[in-house]
Amino acid sequence: MTLQPDKVVVVGAGVGGLAAAMRLAHAGLEVTLADMHAAPGGKMRTLPSTAGPVDAGPTVLTMRSVFDALFEDVGRSLNQYVTLIRQETLARHFWPDGAQLDLHADPEASAAAMRGFAGPRAEAEFRAFSDRAARLFNAFEAPVMQAPAPTLGALSRHVMAQPSLALSMAPFASLAQLLRRQFSDPRLRQLFGRYATYVGGSPDLSPAILALIWHAEASGVWRVKGGMHRLARAMADVASEHGATLLFGQRATRIEMQDGRAAGVHLADGTRLACNAVVFAGDPRALATGQLGASAAGAAPIAGKAGRSLSANVWSFAARIEGPELAHHNVFFGADPRSEFSPLEAGALPEDPTLYICAEDRGTGSKPPELERFEIIMNAPPLPGGQPKDAFSCRTRTFPILRSFGLCFDPEPPDSALTTPAGFEALCPGSQGSLYGQSPHGLMAAFQRPVARTKIPGLYLAGGGAHPGAGVPMATLSGRHAAEAIRTDLASTSTCRRTAMRGGMSTA
Ligand SMILES: Cc1cc2nc3c(=O)[nH]c(=O)nc-3n(C[C@H](O)[C@H](O)[C@H](O)COP(=O)(O)OP(=O)(O)OC[C@H]3O[C@@H](n4cnc5c(N)ncnc54)[C@H](O)[C@@H]3O)c2cc1C
Repeated sequence: MTLQPDKVVVVGAGVGGLAAAMRLAHAGLEVTLADMHAAPGGKMRTLPSTAGPVDAGPTVLTMRSVFDALFEDVGRSLNQYVTLIRQETLARHFWPDGAQLDLHADPEASAAAMRGFAGPRAEAEFRAFSDRAARLFNAFEAPVMQAPAPTLGALSRHVMAQPSLALSMAPFASLAQLLRRQFSDPRLRQLFGRYATYVGGSPDLSPAILALIWHAEASGVWRVKGGMHRLARAMADVASEHGATLLFGQRATRIEMQDGRAAGVHLADGTRLACNAVVFAGDPRALATGQLGASAAGAAPIAGKAGRSLSANVWSFAARIEGPELAHHNVFFGADPRSEFSPLEAGALPEDPTLYICAEDRGTGSKPPELERFEIIMNAPPLPGGQPKDAFSCRTRTFPILRSFGLCFDPEPPDSALTTPAGFEALCPGSQGSLYGQSPHGLMAAFQRPVARTKIPGLYLAGGGAHPGAGVPMATLSGRHAAEAIRTDLASTSTCRRTAMRGGMSTA
């Protein structure tokens, strides 16, 4: 009789799976992390371009403290692994009528920009909105984001302790309704309504509480030197330094159950990884729809029924540009937000979309190279509606619109530079191309996401499809929730496992 180290298999090397692997390996567990792709990061990935690898996933890094804490918790410093550069300009916004507005890291600079853009009333409204967003963020952080399994009761108790919060939450309003009350200028409603899309929602259907996303951005946006994927690589390196085994190009096909608990993971090449616990860090809908075996389908049943968040059509490429001066993050708005969100809500591609452009080589403090790298994102509904008929129909919704703002790319990207919703489904099976898991629509959305500890003993969830939700910081936090749940549960059952474990790694 010997005490075996606890074995954990993590399926999926997105930031949620990586964060769980880092923490579990640091805690001395024997961790194997398997991902079907060739490199860590999941959606945080690059595509090749004529100017080198270009980001093709997330570009806006907020809530730096989540990453500092993660690295510190596992005995490392984030600065040892990546260089983060705080962006003075949070984003540059363009409207079809020629109006332009920068938001800044310095709140006074943003307030002054508001005044210049739309007068003193807009400045006062902006200050009031920023205060509200900060109150909401601070109210939501402990009882929801940081809690392993948030409940409406815990949030209500928090709110009852500060009754003025209930008013700030505008609990029965949508984000769009709140913004109509908050801003007189429709362009500012459009700008702050766009934050609903950061978690894959429409401002008309998402709860007003999502105004808190502005506070996350106002508190700081960082650029990762060398590209966002460097952060995923750093997380993989730390997990590996703590002894985790990383298997790339390995798809998990089945989660094995023994006596009603998760006991192993089967890979497509026939390998069986025996373990005491499994973290599934892909989209929970893959579990719910039986893609990891019928016996694992009951782990997160809600994920099979809930509405899906938005997808996108994303171009990642290198080109020379002519036109307005770009910042690192840029938004080119359509004339009317309804002409974007009505089709999206109906499951169709908009004809007049808002386009986001990350000019990856800008915001560095030095002159950008002649051939620059770009990522352009157009929101789309999930499959099947979000899939363009062909790359051309996506092209016509992107480059002519940007030309109308005076922005020309030379050359325009090849079709191979486009990732469509079907591409995102292939990247993250079971997701229907949704980038942010379940839809954030409705009052109760934050409480309906599956949490780390599932109904199946030994099977845990991490990633943007699990609580506390999507976005790089939230998905990273989910890895902490999964690691903590596993450590608690394994500690409480360790006396039952003072025996040689069945199985191990075997190949067919
Ligand atoms: C274009 C785009 C722009 C975005 N912009 C931002 C942004 O600016 N800021 C921000 O914070 N967030 C942004 N996001 C969202 C953010 O990228 C995600 O919320 C976050 O990266 C998701 O991490 P995750 O842990 O859920 O893992 P994912 O990135 O979803 O990765 C999951 C991994 O699991 C693997 N996997 C799944 N099933 C299996 C299986 N059966 N076997 C083996 N491997 C499997 C997948 O292949 C994938 O590699 C953006 C996303 C996209 C796509």
